[in-house]
Amino acid sequence: MNVRPFWIGELNLDQKIHIIGGGISGLLAGYYFQKKGLNFEVHEMDSRIGGKLQSTWSQYGLVEHSANSILMTSKLEKFFKELNLNPIPTKKKLKRFIYRKNSLKTFPFLNIIELLKISPNFFKKTPTDISELSVFDFWKDCFGEEYTSEIFTPALHGIYSISSDQLLFKDIFSTDFNFGASYLSYFKHLKSKISGHKSISFANGMNELPLAIYEKIKENVKLNSKITEFPKNSLICIDSRYLFQKGNTSIFSTTIFLQEPIDKLLESFGVLFDKNSPILGILCNHQIFNRKSSPSYTIMSKAKIEISDIKDLFLKLFNQKINILDLHTHPWIDGLPIYGKQRHLELLKLDFENKAYFGNYIDGISLRALIEKTLI
Ligand SMILES: Cc1cc2nc3c(=O)[nH]c(=O)nc-3n(C[C@H](O)[C@H](O)[C@H](O)COP(=O)(O)OP(=O)(O)OC[C@H]3O[C@@H](n4cnc5c(N)ncnc54)[C@H](O)[C@@H]3O)c2cc1C
Repeated sequence: MNVRPFWIGELNLDQKIHIIGGGISGLLAGYYFQKKGLNFEVHEMDSRIGGKLQSTWSQYGLVEHSANSILMTSKLEKFFKELNLNPIPTKKKLKRFIYRKNSLKTFPFLNIIELLKISPNFFKKTPTDISELSVFDFWKDCFGEEYTSEIFTPALHGIYSISSDQLLFKDIFSTDFNFGASYLSYFKHLKSKISGHKSISFANGMNELPLAIYEKIKENVKLNSKITEFPKNSLICIDSRYLFQKGNTSIFSTTIFLQEPIDKLLESFGVLFDKNSPILGILCNHQIFNRKSSPSYTIMSKAKIEISDIKDLFLKLFNQKINILDLHTHPWIDGLPIYGKQRHLELLKLDFENKAYFGNYIDGISLRALIEKTLI
């Protein structure tokens, strides 16, 4: 049987596989095993499937509790067709900001003088051994230390909640490249990797994805089934905060609906902030996807933010007073993996005897990466 492991650890494919967790990882694993004719059962402790992927409607529009989009690739397109899902693309030409030196900056985030200053570095060679390099160490010879911290720190901090000197390069950037060639050729390599790929969601939000997979495998999914001791031949897909002492951080997702849109964020996807800011990023929901909605913004932060703080923050950042019609906060305590060295050490401590792991235990947090792993 042509089964290529997408998990880490030991699984006996001739015996029943106990998948622990009915979030997207557990469901993807189950769907893969079903296609391969293997015996499996998914155990989900909750009365609903999907884990962190939850989409609900308020009277003003859609509220995503965690992920709001997936980066589309041609492999994913086929997969969604198979599940009868109709992805909706993000609107075209939206501006993406980072907040640098107290103002909003669009790509390439540097001004012309700064770009000219660093352009000779594009011909420098990239490091050859990238195995232990941080993102900061990889890019500093190209962008210089100052710009690397000013650009990569907000960009990565806003997405991964950790700064560029703590993130391993290989966990974030493409590694199927001939390292030692110039930075310029690495830029071209990255461009080819993402060209034509757009973020997508679904009309009723991200929750459509776990529901569509559940429809295919529901005979083998047990809801309200909390597993306290993992049986032999378990594929563990639960949140790593339950098994790791370190290597996770908390994230709060707060969606607000406003009377009026923010003028400075018209036609934009959102803003990412650096590590000195109380917030990680702001998404402009009503502009990203074509759905009926009042002006809606999701604020990602490391701690809970109160309404008064949001009002002050928006006034300071965008010089605009806001009238909040509705607010939803979803706390994910220790719910975001920090892909740094600590996490690698925690991974080595896991019990691998007759057990395997999938989901946020391997590689990044992206849904695209999780899906593509199970399409092999
Ligand atoms: C705020 C936020 C924003 C994000 N944004 C994006 C984004 O825009 N794009 C993107 O690609 N990714 C994004 N992600 C990441 C993505 O949402 C996650 O990587 C993904 O949902 C994780 O799925 P999972 O199945 O591995 O884990 P989970 O969703 O945590 O599922 C684990 C499941 O296991 C169950 N469980 C736990 N313990 C037990 C037990 N003992 N017995 C049985 N069941 C158990 C839980 O109830 C849960 O259903 C975001 C994440 C967060 C938190």
